[in-house]
Amino acid sequence: MEIGLISVDRWTQGSQVYFLTHLHSDHTQGLSSTWARGPLFCSRLTAKLLPFKFPDLNLSLLRVLEIDSWQYVSLISPSSGDKTIVEVMAIDAHHCPGAIMLLFRGEFGCLLYTGDFRWETSSERAKAGRTTLIEALKDDVVDILYMDNTFCNPSFAFPSRQVAAQQVVDIIASHPNHDIIIGIDSLGKEELLLHISCVFNIKIWVWPERLQTMHLLGFHDIFTTKTSLTRVRAVPRYSFSIDTLEGLNMIRPTIGIMPSGLPWVVRPHKRDDNLFGSLLTSRYNRSKWSDGDKPNDNLGSVERFHKYIYSVPYSDHSCFMEIEEFIKLVQPTNIKGIVSSSSCYVDPLYYFGRLCAGNQPSLRLHYRPERKVEGKRSVAVPTKSNIVSSNFTETNRKRKRAAKLNFLGFHASKVNALRRVQRGAKIAQSECSC
Ligand SMILES: [Zn+2]
Repeated sequence: MEIGLISVDRWTQGSQVYFLTHLHSDHTQGLSSTWARGPLFCSRLTAKLLPFKFPDLNLSLLRVLEIDSWQYVSLISPSSGDKTIVEVMAIDAHHCPGAIMLLFRGEFGCLLYTGDFRWETSSERAKAGRTTLIEALKDDVVDILYMDNTFCNPSFAFPSRQVAAQQVVDIIASHPNHDIIIGIDSLGKEELLLHISCVFNIKIWVWPERLQTMHLLGFHDIFTTKTSLTRVRAVPRYSFSIDTLEGLNMIRPTIGIMPSGLPWVVRPHKRDDNLFGSLLTSRYNRSKWSDGDKPNDNLGSVERFHKYIYSVPYSDHSCFMEIEEFIKLVQPTNIKGIVSSSSCYVDPLYYFGRLCAGNQPSLRLHYRPERKVEGKRSVAVPTKSNIVSSNFTETNRKRKRAAKLNFLGFHASKVNALRRVQRGAKIAQSECSC
């Protein structure tokens, strides 16, 4: 996309319009209450939450994107100076409240920016998203897929959030006389907390700002700031630590649950260098556990790496297998990861280049989204135009356009992957519901 046209999750100067996929702080770095560089497009729910995070933000700049609808934005082409129309559709990313993917079409081609997303194969919301995406693409090839590559490594295999939520419930049920501490961010994992509240018929404690967010999200009777009303407390992720749990256990028996797709990384203690390695690899190398330390088999992939702390693979990001399925569905010409890191970034093309358009038969032929037509279910029939890889000439044309895109560049941020570098006993993510 031409420099100077649009920016996604990036807030430096130089674009005509700006798009925000969701409100996690690693996507809003540079955005502030005084920000005034141009119209800001986001989902309706994000627009509702924005003033809480940025109290003095000029609300006249906000533009709401309705989910699953094309919106047309009139801009000036920086190269020709003529008017140009950018089409954009927001699609439910099923990451945190308000999170969206953005599908763009214009003179620059077709671009898909996932933001952070989780599309589980079993999720009805993800199925609806897939249907929307395929129907919106029609015969277009996605020239560049800007993708959430947080877990773009085959070692990241974890269950659906539904399964992980049951693991959390099992842990709580097996500790009937303990207080429970759960580490969360300022947005996200609400469904997990609602599930716990529903199963145990209890309220969940949250800190005062989080209670305000819950009220904005429409949850009025489930959460409380009174510790006397419940034994389950959802605390800020930054305050969740071994030190905290050890301190709490001097007062009352307490366990901590960290829902995350990431294994914990703990700073090595000088007196015990082995601690670092054992905790770092705990999720993926169970042979290190002695019999007495083994987690309950019923808890599946739950890890109990400290006597007071469980790590549960509940993630708002797609695991590797889900990323692979997503790319098979989209079949982009090129892929770029939106999460960069000097230490662990791997170009998604390393794993998925073979799945890009032209490199394998189109899976869109096999994807038949169900539609409801006048109360009846019907199946979308793939058309000739869906056969992306068989149209050699068209693919080549699109590839040439993609090469042009690479040359021109696209203002889409690579999210600072410091959020994934966790040091110290605390999980000090800058904030994203991993
Ligand atoms: Zn996020």
